[in-house]
Amino acid sequence: MASSFVDKARITVHAGKGGDGAVAFHREKYVAAGGPDGGDGGRGGNVVFTVDDNMSTLMDFRYKRKYVAGNGANGSGKRCYGKDGETLYIKVPRGTIVRDTETGAIMHDMSTGEDWIAAKGGRGGWGNMHFATPTRQVPRFAKPGLPGESHDITLELKLLADVGLVGFPNVGKSTLLSVVSKAHPKIANYHFTTLFPNLGVVYVDEGVSFVMADIPGIIEGASEGAGLGHDFLRHIDRCRLLVHLVDVSGSEGRNPVEDFEAINAELREYSPELAERPQIVVGNKCDLLGEERENIDRLRTHVEALGYRFFAMSAATHEGTRELVKECAGRLAELPPIASFEADYIPPEPKVDTSGELTIEHFDDMWIVEGPWLQRLVATVNFSDYESRMYFDRVLREAGVFKRMEEQGVKDGDTVSMYDLMFEYKD
Ligand code: GDP
Ligand code: MG
Repeated sequence: MASSFVDKARITVHAGKGGDGAVAFHREKYVAAGGPDGGDGGRGGNVVFTVDDNMSTLMDFRYKRKYVAGNGANGSGKRCYGKDGETLYIKVPRGTIVRDTETGAIMHDMSTGEDWIAAKGGRGGWGNMHFATPTRQVPRFAKPGLPGESHDITLELKLLADVGLVGFPNVGKSTLLSVVSKAHPKIANYHFTTLFPNLGVVYVDEGVSFVMADIPGIIEGASEGAGLGHDFLRHIDRCRLLVHLVDVSGSEGRNPVEDFEAINAELREYSPELAERPQIVVGNKCDLLGEERENIDRLRTHVEALGYRFFAMSAATHEGTRELVKECAGRLAELPPIASFEADYIPPEPKVDTSGELTIEHFDDMWIVEGPWLQRLVATVNFSDYESRMYFDRVLREAGVFKRMEEQGVKDGDTVSMYDLMFEYKD
């Protein structure tokens, strides 16, 4: 069962382009030739993933597949910097695994709740104000902004149920699940319901969906530990809300109030914690009730006295199912997420392929080193961490970058610019 309930979505993320640096010269009434004052372009906006604990499916990514952050504005005269491009935040459920679509490699695991930059905006180009030196008073060039990163990404999420269905066999749990999880608009094209009869994604509205699972085992011996795998127990544990189905049709001579109490007793025995979860009680098979309303009225009175919401429903005719689904979504929005969450993946060490093209330019003592792999490397290294800085240094050394700069005459104390990063060169 371990890998079965996996939701997937494929999207592309595009960070913003950096703005171009400006070529401009300072002009004042009594100054014949002012200095260069072209400002830098703004940095392109990042695409950032952020965890939203109210999301439990990747449903929203079926509607929108392309995500684009804002471009940085161009620099202008009078040392004016271009405005940075707007960051695009994308909400994902906790535990979403981000893979590079092409290689399948895991790029990140959104389990910790920290934001993660999925695509880094391009750096703004330098304006010509940076390029004036005592010997070059009139720099007629500036740097263009750099493109932002783009990635083709596959999101993966192990689905965990928000809502657990409990009740005696034959009360209509499977029927309800299939009804509410099939009611998706065509565009969503969800296929889980047919694959996994115990688990369904319930679409409520754009941006609102949840996972519902049938918990078949409870009455059938689960409290003695029979049969259910670890994965399924995880589903049950994570449920934030229980929907308790009771057959009110009076068939088989059953008493709904007794059935309701019997299931709750079983639930307490199985897991006292689970028994404490909020519960919505549903009287099902209302279509079979004729004039005889006594069964359902007694159940309603009984459970409402205990403080539960009660719904009358017919899974067979769909009467009341929409109301139930909306109530579930409303309750889930207010319930805190279940705190315990085990991460399944450990992100691998970043591996950088340093075989691509790298350009090294210098304007006197100012060195500009650029290339796609270097841009990716700078984006992944955390420069506030010593180990990471050592790693960065090692990669550059092994790729022969410092050697090439030395061949071109780099001197101690020169300034080196690599995208976001600027540092002083040391022999
Ligand atoms: P489960 O064991 O709780 O999963 O129950 P099922 O969903 O398998 O339903 C058991 C039987 O009751 C099936 O024959 C269903 O067609 C029937 N059933 C479920 N809901 C309703 C309902 O609202 N009205 C009627 N008349 N029959 C229903
Ligand atoms: Mg069933």
